[in-house]
Amino acid sequence: QNETSFAGTLPRYVRVNLLKSSVSDVISTLESEGWERSVTPAKDIQGFQDAVSNLQDYHFLQDPHLHDVLVFPPRTDFHENELLTSGKIVLQDRASCFPAHILSPPEGATIFDCCAAPGNKTSHVASLINNKGTVFALDKDGRRMATLQRLMRNVGVTCVIPNCQDFLKVNPQDARYKDVEYMLVDPSCSGSGIVSRMNEIIDDPSTSSSQRLDTLSNFQVTMLKHAMKFPNVKRVVYSTCSIHAEENEEVISELETIVEGQFKVCKVFPDWPDRGLPGYDSSDCFLRMSPENSLSNGFFVACFERVETNPDVNR
Ligand code: SAM
Repeated sequence: QNETSFAGTLPRYVRVNLLKSSVSDVISTLESEGWERSVTPAKDIQGFQDAVSNLQDYHFLQDPHLHDVLVFPPRTDFHENELLTSGKIVLQDRASCFPAHILSPPEGATIFDCCAAPGNKTSHVASLINNKGTVFALDKDGRRMATLQRLMRNVGVTCVIPNCQDFLKVNPQDARYKDVEYMLVDPSCSGSGIVSRMNEIIDDPSTSSSQRLDTLSNFQVTMLKHAMKFPNVKRVVYSTCSIHAEENEEVISELETIVEGQFKVCKVFPDWPDRGLPGYDSSDCFLRMSPENSLSNGFFVACFERVETNPDVNR
């Protein structure tokens, strides 16, 4: 079985857009269309896999880790469905729904998404804060930013300030960004975890050459360092759709040394079964996703939090 056809065996994931509907209203609509909800599985790998493989036609389930994600049989087609055309649901891979939940900003927060286009995670963050707050959505690619702005309109996002710019040229001291407390860093990566691209990647070994991975990981470290220069940033979530340690665990390990005493890596989603590759100080804090275990694209997420400084210590 080649990887492209394997992509078609993964479940169809749907994220409920809380700006236009609610999980219970979407479920009611689906039920009125003849869909039946199956019991939410346990949080372990086997429990999820068994539940997915037992999903019958016209059955779906709620993701056991992500309350706003619904899981459908592979190749379920929503393109003509009103839930999709009205923006009440968004088709988004399970793995890429983790960063916004890990960032978990409260309503009213100021967030900076520094590699935002085409806007999946930006719109997810806006959904979680119910459009209350501000999301600076920045990307250096104009064409992708145009897609982002279209998506924001379709899904009813009104709290985003889009900006087409190189993040590394943004001045973290700019007064506009003084309230930024939450930062998403989802930079360009090798894409080696994207199931539908695995064939191209296998056919073109240069995408995984150590020289290319070196260039990417230097860039990823630079982006993270820049994100941590914002004076009031307190949580930074880093994600890639790469399976390579060079772009994941190794990037975070390098950062940990650089920002020691200022930021620390936190353990997030403690019930998530798949952690970082062994052999790194914070392996147990990272999240990994893989087609084999989580039935999603290959993905990596890490979360840094600013270390609270005790004012007494500084006296
Ligand atoms: N977060 C997006 C989403 O969920 O839809 C996907 C982001 S994609 C993995 C990486 C993005 O980083 C690309 O759109 C690319 O244009 C952008 N990018 C790369 N280097 C950048 C830079 N120096 N400044 C701003 N954006 C950059």
